[in-house]
Amino acid sequence: MIVCDTPILQEWLAPKQEISSHPGVTYPRPKWTKLFAEDFLVSNSIEFARWDSTPVQPIVCETCWDSGCGSYTLGLAFIELVGDYLLWVPPTAADVPWEDVTDYRRSRFRQKTLLMPVNVWNNLRGRFPNLPAADHFPPPRKCDLANLWFDEMPEDVRVDSPEKLTVRLLHEAIASDPSELDESRENVADWLAWMQTEPNTLVPGRFVRVQDFDGSLNSLFFEGPPFPEWKAFVVGPRRGLVFGNQWVFQLD
Ligand SMILES: [Zn+2]
Repeated sequence: MIVCDTPILQEWLAPKQEISSHPGVTYPRPKWTKLFAEDFLVSNSIEFARWDSTPVQPIVCETCWDSGCGSYTLGLAFIELVGDYLLWVPPTAADVPWEDVTDYRRSRFRQKTLLMPVNVWNNLRGRFPNLPAADHFPPPRKCDLANLWFDEMPEDVRVDSPEKLTVRLLHEAIASDPSELDESRENVADWLAWMQTEPNTLVPGRFVRVQDFDGSLNSLFFEGPPFPEWKAFVVGPRRGLVFGNQWVFQLD
């Protein structure tokens, strides 16, 4: 997950485009602005991207200047409002209108998850008034939080399905803190059941950095070396999940 505190903007001229009724004659080339998060291209034309579609289409086709043509799958993202942040997540195969999502098309989805502070978005919006207000975006879907939780597990712990996680917890988890190991396994099982029930439900909440969170987090430790630690969930009555050992998502 890239935290996009300082987006990089780069102005350029739209690629040449011929007027179809006048071969050899091209349209005047408008100014486009690229948006990068670190070195990842988020949008190639903030001005002409479709920010009001669902999912958003931040990449404009450089051949025909349309974000809805054959390049439609490139860069697709759901933008979701989570407290003071906008979370950008890739669509799932179930989100797109084609019956058969080939690997090629899937590979063209946005590949990175971004976390952008709302004040960064508001600054961009001051310069590009075509961007919708942050509160135009809905809270995150349960399925997006679930995918993110799995994607952000420490590399030595990561699995790609609830079933594999259950097996790993049973056979490779060796300790838990502060909850007892069995209690932690049950807690994770409860979260997995929650994630799989009505996965399109919107879940209002907020993101807090682990070091700023005033509650207690439960860590699970796995066989090693290197005995990886996975901070998985919030302990106590305030419910929440931990992402990448760094961010707490606390449900409202
Ligand atoms: Zn095109």
